[in-house]
Amino acid sequence: MSTQTIPVTLNTNPKLPTYNMDEIAFGKNFTDHMLVADYENGEWKNVVIKPYAPFEVDPSCATLHYGQTIFEGIKAFKNNKGEAVIFRPDQNFKRFNISAERMQMPAIPEWIFMEGMKQLIKLEAGWIPNKPDASLYIRPFMIAMDPFLGVRPSQTYKFMIILGPSGAYFSAPMKILIEQHYTRATPGGVGFAKNGGNYGGSLYPVSLAQKNGYDQVLWTDAIEHKYVEEVGMMNVMFVIDGKIITPSVEKGTVLKGVTRNSAITLLKEMGYEVEERFLSVAEIVDAHKKGLFQEVFGVGTAAVVSYISRLAHGEYIMDFDVEALKVAPALKKHLNDIRMGNIVDKHDWLVHI
Ligand SMILES: *Cc1c(COP(=O)(O)O)cnc(C)c1O
Repeated sequence: MSTQTIPVTLNTNPKLPTYNMDEIAFGKNFTDHMLVADYENGEWKNVVIKPYAPFEVDPSCATLHYGQTIFEGIKAFKNNKGEAVIFRPDQNFKRFNISAERMQMPAIPEWIFMEGMKQLIKLEAGWIPNKPDASLYIRPFMIAMDPFLGVRPSQTYKFMIILGPSGAYFSAPMKILIEQHYTRATPGGVGFAKNGGNYGGSLYPVSLAQKNGYDQVLWTDAIEHKYVEEVGMMNVMFVIDGKIITPSVEKGTVLKGVTRNSAITLLKEMGYEVEERFLSVAEIVDAHKKGLFQEVFGVGTAAVVSYISRLAHGEYIMDFDVEALKVAPALKKHLNDIRMGNIVDKHDWLVHI
């Protein structure tokens, strides 16, 4: 199957005409159509766009038992001219197939992922909110479908894309606890992949931090809990003595975020020195004691840039005046200006529908 127009079955009972765009919470509401493709006998087939609806799986379905499942998260926006644009989906496509390889799943052909996404969004363009900071969240995912309880790679899969409108993602500044016991990812493990189990496994340590008044944890390396890695489901950036430092991805325990990559490029253009390297908790605490630790923030597709007002290492508390932040708000504005078309997209990051 090469590039082609994907057959569409229209939803005869669409929600869009009566949908209240002012009440859009992330992740709860989905558009009228979805894309589905099946993998059988070594090939992708049955690529269709059809009404969004539940579907059946066998109770022995491999995904339900062994977690052979991967996903991506991407956003589409209306720019200041009302045109629909997607932010860097080619990067998500590449990462999806990296995740697929690690989880012993078949690669998805580029045309199904990219053209499928574009055709689906073209059909659902009315669902892209027309408000600043609001977006249409795009969730491509793949699941193993074999009805078989043996632990081996499935021979059948489903690839799907679903879309959900998402309001201006207001997130209050976060309070973060540096994790000293649990781990998100290990060298040789699956931390660089967006596979379901990584997120299921993070819920318990995060719930413990929440019981103690924190919103999320700052993950540290699995071996010594000495080096910082990520904050929740976001990459993390530190501003220490005017320099930006973000954890290195070279051990495979830090997910290579598209927002992280974009932020590094933009911050350098904005004149900052950016270091990608291992950063220890000891160095952070030492910088704080010397008054050199200026900012810490999360970067990821969902919230773009998330401010952090408190970072704690055990009893040692580091507080930040969110009103006085410089780098994080400037980066957020720069990214938004590119997405909205207020400034030239010189890196060709936007894909027009
Ligand atoms: C998705 C994700 C990120 C952010 O990646 P983006 O491509 O910027 O959205 C960071 N860390 C983890 C663990 C993630 O799953």
